[in-house]
Amino acid sequence: MSHVATVAGVPVDTRHWIGGARVASATTFTDESPIDGRTLAEVARGERTEAEAAVAAAQAAFPGWAATPAAERARLLRGIAEGVEKRLEELAIVETTDNGALLRSHRRGVMPRVAHNLRFFADRLEDIGHEDFATRGHSNHVSWDPAGPCVLITPWNAPLMLATWKVAPALAAGNTVVLKPSEWSPLTASLLADIAAVAGLPAGVLNVVQGYGAEVGAALVAHPGVRRISFTGSVPTAKNIARSAAGNLIPASFELGGKSPLLVFADADLDLAVDLAVEQYDNAGQVCLAATRLLVETSIAEEFTRRLVAKAAKLRQGDPRAEVTDIGPNIHTRQIEKIDGFVRRAVAAGARAVVGGGPNTDLGGLYYRPTLLTDVAQDSEIVQEEVFGPVLTLQTFDTEEEAVRLANDTRFGLAATLATGDRDRARRVSERLVAGTVWINCFFVRDLRAPFGGSRESGVGREGGDWSFDFYCDLKNTVTAPEGWNHG
Ligand code: NAD
Repeated sequence: MSHVATVAGVPVDTRHWIGGARVASATTFTDESPIDGRTLAEVARGERTEAEAAVAAAQAAFPGWAATPAAERARLLRGIAEGVEKRLEELAIVETTDNGALLRSHRRGVMPRVAHNLRFFADRLEDIGHEDFATRGHSNHVSWDPAGPCVLITPWNAPLMLATWKVAPALAAGNTVVLKPSEWSPLTASLLADIAAVAGLPAGVLNVVQGYGAEVGAALVAHPGVRRISFTGSVPTAKNIARSAAGNLIPASFELGGKSPLLVFADADLDLAVDLAVEQYDNAGQVCLAATRLLVETSIAEEFTRRLVAKAAKLRQGDPRAEVTDIGPNIHTRQIEKIDGFVRRAVAAGARAVVGGGPNTDLGGLYYRPTLLTDVAQDSEIVQEEVFGPVLTLQTFDTEEEAVRLANDTRFGLAATLATGDRDRARRVSERLVAGTVWINCFFVRDLRAPFGGSRESGVGREGGDWSFDFYCDLKNTVTAPEGWNHG
């Protein structure tokens, strides 16, 4: 059996990458394209054996990599970034073919950001914080030491972006890594392994294993040789992983789901507010940060809805490889069924679909129409649960107090967006919102220096900037006496 699949003309090795070598498994799983359901590859299906081999490789490589001077680690990371830039077109088309997100976004936004993830942490590494201070004449020196092998587990909605968001700081900090991409979009992780090898990253520093979460994923997170787990995905999986991390008493970072609000006040620039609302359909709604709950001041709700319906009707849904497409497919028929189940139950409970409300049957089974539901109750499933599809709800409020109460009334706290023309209101409201990120009159502006993560069930911990190094490092304080050298 060939171990290389040709995806959109790009050869992709479907075996694991362990200890600097390609490793096959006894069995494979089928990776399909959400664009048309076509089989793309039979991918090595790792289980416990592969998890153990990958962690062993990461353990073996750790002492050498941890002792590698920071400048050399930074040079290698920049080399990987260059490799990403060189292969940007290939990465973009493979990612689009594998996860269905827009090709133009991959080309212009996502893949440049992948390279930036690597460069950012390479640069940051060179001025990683050092604290030096004196205590009664003794000197204190704080150092950020490498922690050991890290297991990094990622979802399918932004595969390489999220993988490098973790791989870059983990490697920069002097750790070794086992990356497990989602079984629904595993391909670009394999290309990253190739790129890292070409850049000269030593064997075993980055390992990639593919397979199902319940199999190789569960084996990785329970492995006693692992020193950190960084996970991005759903809340139920996070709870399972937290139990494994507790078993070995190791730090774990969780970047999870959301049900974020967009608050539109009557004093907002209405065109901007409508644009912000329409942006929430990006990536067919498969964005953790998406502000899927539109909360609109009653006095403007009718006009806002009218403009939103008109704008949503103009969105072009179709093949994500076409430049003109605004909304592509959802990842899998199972995801479409899940989304449709949410919408059907909401409608049965009294919601009204003023836009969309079902799969786009003209395009086959994998495309869900951008949907807007009104007449939804705050305690209903559609308002409380993450749909992870192009489905927005619209509710109204009469006072700032009510807006804040509705905004905060879910078990999530990932992000919140405000549209208002009043600076004082923006400050007052944003101070009271429970969210890892608040955007005021903008959306999705991200700076890697900022802390990123969620409150409540949207996550545990923050990554980004120095917060990533705090997570991936063991901090050590070395106290030296003023005297006492060569005594005796
Ligand atoms: P998921 O939890 O089903 O899977 C995520 C990853 O975990 C996959 O690689 C999967 O194989 C693995 N996994 C599953 N069970 C496992 C187990 N028992 N042990 C170890 N690994 C296991 O999530 P998904 O459906 O792939 O992704 C969608 C979710 O991710 C949404 O909830 C979304 O909001 C969230 N997400 C969050 C962020 C963020 O930064 N906060 C970003 C993107 C996506």
